[in-house]
Amino acid sequence: MTMPVDTLWSNVHLATLDMASGYGEIEDAAIAVSNGRIAWLGPRADLPRGLQAAVTHDGNGGWLTPGLIDCHTHLVWAGSRAQEFEQRLQGASYTDIAAQGGGILATVHATRAASEQALFAQSAQRLRTLLDEGVTSVEIKSGYGLDLASERRCLAVARRLGREHRVHVATTFLGAHAVPTEYAGRADTYIAMLATEMLPALHAEHLVDAVDGYCEPLAFTPAQLRRLFAAARALGLPVKLHAEQLSDSGGAALAAEVGALSADHLEYVNDAGLAAMAQAGTVAVLLPGAYYALRETRAPPVAAMRRLGIPMAVATDCNPGTSPCASPLLMLNMACTLFGLTPEEALAGVTRVAARALGLHADRGRLAVGLRADFALWDIDHPRELAYWIGGRSCSGRVVDGVAMDAI
Ligand SMILES: [Zn+2]
Repeated sequence: MTMPVDTLWSNVHLATLDMASGYGEIEDAAIAVSNGRIAWLGPRADLPRGLQAAVTHDGNGGWLTPGLIDCHTHLVWAGSRAQEFEQRLQGASYTDIAAQGGGILATVHATRAASEQALFAQSAQRLRTLLDEGVTSVEIKSGYGLDLASERRCLAVARRLGREHRVHVATTFLGAHAVPTEYAGRADTYIAMLATEMLPALHAEHLVDAVDGYCEPLAFTPAQLRRLFAAARALGLPVKLHAEQLSDSGGAALAAEVGALSADHLEYVNDAGLAAMAQAGTVAVLLPGAYYALRETRAPPVAAMRRLGIPMAVATDCNPGTSPCASPLLMLNMACTLFGLTPEEALAGVTRVAARALGLHADRGRLAVGLRADFALWDIDHPRELAYWIGGRSCSGRVVDGVAMDAI
């Protein structure tokens, strides 16, 4: 019986990540694609005799992994915060800088002033760095506009980045990133406006895939975010939360309570918050770039997360203030060296678990028959090398929806 397929990649080793643990290694393998989805994979010796590929690629003995998924970025912004980097090195804290009108609000100012084209150009440069390291799906948050026109512009730029770069973009509305100056002292009013006006308007324009908020004393309280999340759920949108980054503020418990896809950061999460996340199946998104850049000393409780079976994702948190980084591979290394993940956990954190943090796990993040054919090909001897190198490695090819994008 013949089995026609569009494309076959042969002479590759596979790391399928398609199990609860382990790389899912298949040495000397092949993988076949039809209609943008994986049609067959396995040892090359087991290739079905009738399999006929219209096109065959030679993987040159490299390793093929699921395409990387950067599940937490703030990729679209204008301006730079290098000056604050200097201030922090001279002793100012992140909270001090925010209180002086710096921090997020400085980027809001620059982003509101930027044209859509300027925003696109600056953001595309960062996106290309992610793609170079094997990213095939990326989450992009708004949150540097904080008024309807500017949030719309940022989300529209995120959508356009996806259209023009052959990468799957998941957009997240983060209007609850900071209280904008025009609402200073009126955070409740601002949240009510987000819930009843801005979010429904952007949702109606198909610009929003999920809703996020920043739960910290310098941003929003659990009660305020609960209100916003109720509006999100009423629109059928999943939610996520920046939780317990700088203080124990009840964010993890809130994320679990509202059925959030993920709670992100979690340096200060307490035992009750962890237990609630475990119960609810909330993904913990670990962001070592922000931990490193802020020179934090308290790491997320990875051992407890592991013991409780909380899935751990890893992401760049690419943003101008606290994680000016567009290297997922550097994050893999830092997740291991700074937080104690194993290289295997770290790789799962940017593939299988990252997909779950975006609600895409039925379709992406693993190599398995029926899933989207999103791959990265690497010139390495073993997948553990992806976390071993301290950044600075490129993938040798990307495949998105079965289409080879680069040299492969
Ligand atoms: Zn973030």
